[in-house]
Amino acid sequence: MKILLLGSDGQVGWELQRSLSVLGDLVALGHSTAEYCGDFANPEGIARTVRALHPDVIVNAAAHTAVDKAESETELARLINAITPGVLARESKKLGALLVHYSTDYVFDGSGDAPRNEQAPVAPLSVYGQTKLEAEQLIQSSGCRHLIFRTSWVYAARGGNFAKTMLRLAQEREQLTVINDQFGAPTGADMLADVTAHAIVHAQQHPESLGLYHCVAGGETTWHAYAQFVLDTAKQLQPELALKVQTVAPVATSAFPTPAKRPQNSRLNTRKLQTNFGLQLPHWQHGVARMLQEIL
Ligand code: NDP
Repeated sequence: MKILLLGSDGQVGWELQRSLSVLGDLVALGHSTAEYCGDFANPEGIARTVRALHPDVIVNAAAHTAVDKAESETELARLINAITPGVLARESKKLGALLVHYSTDYVFDGSGDAPRNEQAPVAPLSVYGQTKLEAEQLIQSSGCRHLIFRTSWVYAARGGNFAKTMLRLAQEREQLTVINDQFGAPTGADMLADVTAHAIVHAQQHPESLGLYHCVAGGETTWHAYAQFVLDTAKQLQPELALKVQTVAPVATSAFPTPAKRPQNSRLNTRKLQTNFGLQLPHWQHGVARMLQEIL
């Protein structure tokens, strides 16, 4: 099996380089790889790459993920998040390849407090959410074989993340203020990559399992409780860590105005994924504690 991985240097892309490597011949392309075009700002270049490589599976981990910047870079965000994934879908259909793509809870407006399933009505609040939704629709209407995983609050040991920011600030300041009215589940890029590899193998044998899925870690939290968990776990793992912080104050989203509006309820129901693929998604605290052990 030949697999083309795009966006291979991001949080999820990096972990996919590991998890997909055992499935077949993997060609992993980043933003500016020399031999083939991996630049999503160049849709026809990406189409040429697909035609040259003839993959059986295309996994797209590239995206314009700067949610606030996307509000003022609408056309670039649309090109990277929607138009080029649409081209990938068109080329996948022509080749008969399986397309794997990632989407987001930002396709929802975040109202209410129940976890949403895959059929819940979409209503993005931001350019990022809107362009990610457009990609879903382009992929679905192309008729290509596809798996789309909507996820949320992604972190990885590699690169910057919320936990690292909290640890840094806790060493610099006595008081932190963290939002406590947005609810979701921090989801490890490593878990997403492992689920992806499993789902690709499963879907090749069970084509009826193709489609759209919610994929997040188990349980739920707020950014405030997530920050507290990070600091408590860090203290346990490394008691000598010089943390200045005395209080972590909970605040409302309105205390941190941002260009892009974020959903308050990012809870996603993952029953369909767990049932169709015979998987169990571990609690978010398990993955975050593991990531902290890696970085501390
Ligand atoms: P990252 O921002 O870590 O990775 C995105 C990758 O896309 C980066 O390597 C980036 O490269 C690359 N990229 C950006 N512009 C281009 C371009 N023009 N051409 C090619 N590559 C480009 O994101 P994640 O790994 O976290 O996200 C993976 C998927 O999960 C995305 O589809 C995202 O929308 C989705 N998702 C992510 C969430 C999160 O919290 N991060 C939450 C929900 C969904 P470079 O850095 O060089 O620009």
